[in-house]
Amino acid sequence: MNRISLSRRGFIKNTGMITASGILLPNLLTGKALNSMNQSISISTDFVSGGGDVRVVSENPHRIRFKAHNEGGGGWSQVWWYFALEGVKSGEEIVLELDRGVPASAGISPQVFFSYDQKVWGLTDTGKSAIIDSREFFVYKHVVRGDKVWFAYDLPYTPAHLDLLLTSDVSKNPDAEIFEFCKTKKGRPVTAIRFDKPKQESKKKHGIWLQARTHAFESGSSWVLHELLRWLISEDPMAKNLLDCSTLVVVPIVDVDGVVEGRTGKNQQPHDHNRGWDILPDHWPETKASKSLLMEWKEQNMLDMFIDFHGPGNNSHPYFIIAETNSLPYDKQQKNRKKFFEVLKSKPLDDIARLSQSMTQIYHSERPWDQKPNTARKWVTMETTDHNVALTLEVNMNTPLSTMDGYRSEAITLGRAISNYFVQNHHQR
Ligand SMILES: [Zn+2]
Repeated sequence: MNRISLSRRGFIKNTGMITASGILLPNLLTGKALNSMNQSISISTDFVSGGGDVRVVSENPHRIRFKAHNEGGGGWSQVWWYFALEGVKSGEEIVLELDRGVPASAGISPQVFFSYDQKVWGLTDTGKSAIIDSREFFVYKHVVRGDKVWFAYDLPYTPAHLDLLLTSDVSKNPDAEIFEFCKTKKGRPVTAIRFDKPKQESKKKHGIWLQARTHAFESGSSWVLHELLRWLISEDPMAKNLLDCSTLVVVPIVDVDGVVEGRTGKNQQPHDHNRGWDILPDHWPETKASKSLLMEWKEQNMLDMFIDFHGPGNNSHPYFIIAETNSLPYDKQQKNRKKFFEVLKSKPLDDIARLSQSMTQIYHSERPWDQKPNTARKWVTMETTDHNVALTLEVNMNTPLSTMDGYRSEAITLGRAISNYFVQNHHQR
């Protein structure tokens, strides 16, 4: 039996490589072929967002064993993986053995994504739990149709998607500004988009903040924001009306380092990008930049809505994780959130709701406040305006509906509700 191990190259990948390539998507497999003399299959994670530890267990049958990238604690800190495989013949079956590790990794995708060009993605058949060599695995099988194939935990979304699929269209909108929000600890640019149409006499200006990927592995959350941006620049009158009365800042990828390096991101040390918002000085440049702009909005009393996009949700519907109503410190925060849910037709996520599945019925689920260090949502609720609606959206990843079309439906549903809520003056300051 032949065995090879793939040791990941150092984190020298950067987004500039991709944008300079001038191609549609990061269709790059720059890793060296890792074949030994008698081995036909090679594996690589050596590309943007490639991650996890992968090796060939056997060639006949083709068995690939892999682990998700681990921030250290297993569980939810061990979720993301994305690798390429070369040298399998079309029509051959490949067995993918996801090693859960100890403690077992969390967030298992029942089906995983495959692609032959990193542009068009499909879902494999549903995998199964298995015990192999006394260890816990989740095993997928797939008949390949090309000699090079990529597999990923979920639909990848990297800075190149933003740069190459969105920025040129967004930049045509006269009221949109694409700007460098900050640089990461490792010097990579974090991109944000601001819509700020000149104020009209009779109209209030509302401040709306939308961000995704404080947890790097939650790629579906960036897809929903990507599609929300597409909707904002569309001809839909509801999008135009929203832009007339609001200033929006959208950050589609907060933890760019984690995303580019193919890491899980969640529970990284000393705290991940969703945590520690109450701690000074700020550990992450992204958090510092966010808090600084949000405090400017607070001074102008215009921080009205803050939505932090997460995932993977569950196999039912998208839903907001929210604080229990009576733990919101201000009456206006309680009333505004209630009104927004009425406009959205959002209901509590209960056992009945969990039996069905959609991308467009957005539910909500009340939870006690997290323990310190504070999350972004808690910091916004406690430290900024007394009227803001601060929400965490669990985008539902890992379902048969979680495709680009599905994420688009989810984005438009949410965008139209935000438009109705502000345009019809439901928000009370
Ligand atoms: Zn998250």
